[in-house]
Amino acid sequence: MLFKSENKKTGTRQETGSENIQTKEKRERVKKNTEKKILSIVLAGLIGLGGGFGLAKGTGLEEIGRSLARKTGISMAERETAKPPENIKEAELDIQEQIEFLEVKEVIKTLEEKVDKHGYLMRLIAQLQELPAKKFISTMRMTPETKDESPEISVSNLEKAGIKSEVLAEMVKAVYPSSWLRHIEKIEFVENTSAIDTRAYGKNFQGTLACGRVFRPLSRKSAIEFYNGCESRSIPYYLNHELAHTIDWDKNQVLSVKDRMLFLKKVLERIGADDRFLSGYVEKIDVPDEKLKNNTHATEYWAEIMEEYLNRPPYYFNGGRDPGRLALKDVELIEDFLKKTDPQFDAKRANHRRFDFTATHIDQYGERPPLIYIHKSKI
Ligand SMILES: [Zn+2]
Repeated sequence: MLFKSENKKTGTRQETGSENIQTKEKRERVKKNTEKKILSIVLAGLIGLGGGFGLAKGTGLEEIGRSLARKTGISMAERETAKPPENIKEAELDIQEQIEFLEVKEVIKTLEEKVDKHGYLMRLIAQLQELPAKKFISTMRMTPETKDESPEISVSNLEKAGIKSEVLAEMVKAVYPSSWLRHIEKIEFVENTSAIDTRAYGKNFQGTLACGRVFRPLSRKSAIEFYNGCESRSIPYYLNHELAHTIDWDKNQVLSVKDRMLFLKKVLERIGADDRFLSGYVEKIDVPDEKLKNNTHATEYWAEIMEEYLNRPPYYFNGGRDPGRLALKDVELIEDFLKKTDPQFDAKRANHRRFDFTATHIDQYGERPPLIYIHKSKI
């Protein structure tokens, strides 16, 4: 089938058949590459200008500068007065590095405006800011080298919640993305209660007890604890939530520092979105300090959407159209993350495996035979 289009300027008629579509694609590619080159030149020019981010007036560069300003969030007024980073010239960064330097600085600016400085990532960013540009680039690109490919996870005392510890250990290994396992040292049931910290979660959680919690020592792997009041049936589901905490931007051992920053930025964009996932838990978080609130919101939002993604894989495909289900943007966020960390991971298969473990082994009265479901035909 051919589509006809008319070129109004020249009055010539053009047939955009398959051959012409290819030509069009080629033209688009060349246009894109040229734009990219111009952008690089502009950025190089901006960096090279000793006096600030001024642009030659009356040229096409002004327009590009404006669109760059929109893209990076630097206003034209700021651009006029801003000075290029002191150390960027001394460091002899190549063009690609200079662009990355500026892009990451913009991401850092956004993060610093939105979240408080207490997380591991934000502390890392503060250190990063002190580094000379060349070191800044190499550190933010750095992916921690993890040699711990088949880590041992200690699972203990879950019997107190009606689950055999070795069964849960087996389930964790069989169900979750392999990179996640490198982040956990132990899962434990603690015969105690644990109150939710109202400073970080707000007054709505006054007197509320936590079912599970993640401890993240600075240089070691995380520990997950479950407490009195957690039912055996709910532990495998809450485990999704707690495990999601262990691999978030704050202490992820697989993603580069830059990817961790972008990850947090994306989650921050989602917490205020109209089509955000409406988790009763997250919506209840109310802290007077805006930055602290964003911190808790983002942390719990990520854990909640991941829990939902892992718990109900058949439903999230309807991306946001069903009330209470994940919006497409959340699914994209999660799948982008998994693509970088565990591209082989299949959420549906993982869900079936976990269901199998749960139905076979986990019940408050002990072990039970597997449940059998009969699918009824409509006919
Ligand atoms: Zn949580």
